[in-house]
Amino acid sequence: MSDEPKKDDPVELRCPKCREKVTIPREQADTAMHARCSKGHEFEIARAI
Ligand SMILES: [Zn+2]
Repeated sequence: MSDEPKKDDPVELRCPKCREKVTIPREQADTAMHARCSKGHEFEIARAI
């Protein structure tokens, strides 16, 4: 057994327009500049870390 760091740790974002919670994979948060909520609002991914 090995203790590998979680790569697919999901990242929680919140749409600034409708305040909906959007969960995306960490891989997407690292590479993509924007995310989209289910209502179609596109917003910038803010790096909190
Ligand atoms: Zn939205």
